[in-house]
Amino acid sequence: MTETAARIIDGKAIAAALRARVAARTAALGFRPGLAVVLVGDDPASAVYVRSKDRAAKEAGIAAETIRLPATVTEAELLAVVARLNADAAVDGILVQLPLPPQIRARAVIEAIDPAKDVDGFHPVNVGRLHDGTATLVPCTPLGVMKLLAEAGVVLRGARALVLGRSAIVGKPVAALLTAADATVTVAHSRTRDLPAECRRAEVLVAAVGRAEMVRGDWIASGAVVIDVGINRLPDGRLAGDVAYAEAAAVAGAITPVPGGVGPMTIACLLENTLGAAVARRG
Ligand code: NDP
Repeated sequence: MTETAARIIDGKAIAAALRARVAARTAALGFRPGLAVVLVGDDPASAVYVRSKDRAAKEAGIAAETIRLPATVTEAELLAVVARLNADAAVDGILVQLPLPPQIRARAVIEAIDPAKDVDGFHPVNVGRLHDGTATLVPCTPLGVMKLLAEAGVVLRGARALVLGRSAIVGKPVAALLTAADATVTVAHSRTRDLPAECRRAEVLVAAVGRAEMVRGDWIASGAVVIDVGINRLPDGRLAGDVAYAEAAAVAGAITPVPGGVGPMTIACLLENTLGAAVARRG
């Protein structure tokens, strides 16, 4: 099946417009927001992400610095770096790239970041605020998903939404944001019975499972909006989402591609969070 009926939600273009808006607002501030990205070890995927974040931040007028630490760094040493960044008035945003090596507890590091500088939105204070509706720093990928839905003109009020995946960094925050936007939300996961049937009921389907092309075309209701968060490397080196794109595009009303959908929004939202943290801290 190669025919494409669905409208393609162009994350690359929507992210570029958001980055331009952040750059314009940053230029008008009178100071440069600061973003510190901490990279531990030499995981190649993490290095690529961190380089992209650093470049995008600089393009938006943000003073970005990347702090590279060896894979052998101790938790105490990493916590000391976080404490120094917390105390540095020029740093508005702190991001510690995950995953971390096994000798370091990611939770301890996330909890050490000043919640006002937690531009990833992973600190328990920010997680709590997301769930009680007072969030200021929302995790970047879920925020990007919501912006794509808004830009695509999707009406969420009263819509039946299904979030496939319940991770703390994608599935759970996406479900909270959709609920806050008045959708009726189901969260599905590896223990869900009859996943295809659950998916077929959804008018809005957000897939964040990390399994290449798991969601098939016949799991999707005609006209549904499909947001594919998955980034999976196929054996031949190509990237694939969690949704079988060609099959899904033949039945969906609108769909995000991979690459070029949610991925670019994540970095654009990081820039927006950094700007927001800077404005909140410095007026
Ligand atoms: P996790 O591995 O943390 O979570 C995956 C979720 O999917 C879990 O809730 C798991 O269920 C569920 N799941 C796994 N297998 C199945 C299955 N066979 N049937 C039903 N549910 C299943 O992944 P993340 O949330 O961190 O990431 C998800 C995807 O999004 C990945 O491809 C990742 O690369 C991508 N991603 C993309 C980003 C971007 O910028 N675009 C940013 C972050 C992630 P259970 O809880 O029961 O184990």
